[in-house]
Amino acid sequence: MFPAKSDSQRLLRPTMDTSAAPGGGGGAPAPKQPMIYICGECHAENEIRPRDTIRCRECGYRIMYKKRTKRLIVFDAR
Ligand SMILES: [Zn+2]
Repeated sequence: MFPAKSDSQRLLRPTMDTSAAPGGGGGAPAPKQPMIYICGECHAENEIRPRDTIRCRECGYRIMYKKRTKRLIVFDAR
C-alpha cells in the first residue's frame, strides 16, 4: 500500500481475529500479539512471537499446543 500524502483521515484496519485460517495459500498472516504455547513434553508455557521459532525454551521440544485454541501444532525438527 502507498502512504497517504495528504492529511486525510487514516483508514483504520478492521480487527482481524482469524482463529482459523482457510486451507490453501502459503504464508499465514502473522498475529500481532504473541501466542502462548504449551510444550507437549514438559508443559511449560512459552510465549511465541510470530517471528520466533516454535520451540520450547525449557526442553527444546518442538511440539507445542496452542493455549487459546486447543489445536495441536506439530513442527518437524529437521
Ligand atoms: Zn518443554
